[in-house]
Amino acid sequence: MMQFRDLQAQYGRLQPDIDAAVSAVLAGGRYIGGILVQELESQLADYVGVKHCITCGNGTDALQLALMAWGVGRGDAVFVPDFTFFSSGEVVPAVGATPVFVDVNGRTFNLDASKLEKAVLAVEQEGRLRPRVVVAVDLFGLPADYSAIRDVCDRHDLLLLEDGAQGFGGSIDGRMACSFGDISTTSFFPAKPLGCYGDGGAVFTDSDEWAALIRSYAVHGKGTMKYDNVRIGMNSRLDTVQAAILQVKLSAFIDYELDAVNKVAAAYNDLLRSAGLPEEGVALPEVPAGFRSSWAQYTIQLPDSCNRDSLQEELTGQGIPTMVYYPKPMSAQGAFQRCCVPCSGEQAALLCRSVLSLPCGPDIDAAAQQLVANALSCKLVG
Ligand SMILES: *Cc1c(COP(=O)(O)O)cnc(C)c1O
Repeated sequence: MMQFRDLQAQYGRLQPDIDAAVSAVLAGGRYIGGILVQELESQLADYVGVKHCITCGNGTDALQLALMAWGVGRGDAVFVPDFTFFSSGEVVPAVGATPVFVDVNGRTFNLDASKLEKAVLAVEQEGRLRPRVVVAVDLFGLPADYSAIRDVCDRHDLLLLEDGAQGFGGSIDGRMACSFGDISTTSFFPAKPLGCYGDGGAVFTDSDEWAALIRSYAVHGKGTMKYDNVRIGMNSRLDTVQAAILQVKLSAFIDYELDAVNKVAAAYNDLLRSAGLPEEGVALPEVPAGFRSSWAQYTIQLPDSCNRDSLQEELTGQGIPTMVYYPKPMSAQGAFQRCCVPCSGEQAALLCRSVLSLPCGPDIDAAAQQLVANALSCKLVG
């Protein structure tokens, strides 16, 4: 069976450096915080192009910390794409606010700015909730449409939170993902574009004030020192050993992995096009001009006529793992039924029925990609 995302092959490549970095932390006796975490934070901030990076426990905490720093809570509306991973919306009721789910663009998978504006106007007109924040997600590695989304935020005095958990490394006209929000976040979950060997996350912002608040909230609401607690916070830190691993992985990511995964995506495009899949109604992932994806996933859309379950089963039988990200719109999740503003994301619902993510990553080889393309064309081209 080929790997859906081959993290073992990546470790094989980086093993001497990672093992040395981990051993140094273990021998050094400093396991939380320290110089390695500080160094990593400044490397990440430099790469992304923002003033502050605050690492934390995971990408979900990173989102929640942003909302806490802004004092978002009861009575506030937070606009979230209807097609994303659960965390993007989960953090909203977690701070007492109300998620309002907004439909996405059926070709880019990302927030639809015109539908966002309509949703904001509807909340303003109803007058029950105060519109406060837009969460824009860089789904599957592709940055959201930030020029259009920022316009809506400016017109309605909304804060922009970029959920870059899948977007790290992407860019628009050379400007890096995780720099588009008033606060932006990412995740270092192992399978993300930049992953560690456990949980990890980071928050990015140019604001000194918000950065200081986030550092406090992430460590029990600390004041001048750890045992002076001035607000109710949480315990959300990146382990020193993960910071050491991330330093090695970040340089490989910058040096060649991001290019490698973009070559893999381009090769899929060529193989699937020459296999005739677009003519059979299969949509290949679209990257708008000026945008660069970090390819957290390579996701195609199957035609209505295709039985996705049986296709997946046959591919599995041939040793090809595939995934459905995501099978259910956010607005249809049971957990949100009592707290969100009802909505129906037409494109989101369609995507949930049609998407299929293929094995991808910097370590997949040409032969494996050929195998995937052959298997798909065998099933879909009639
Ligand atoms: C993975 C992910 C998160 C959460 O990250 P964790 O580190 O797993 O908490 C948030 N948003 C999106 C879009 C994600 O894909």
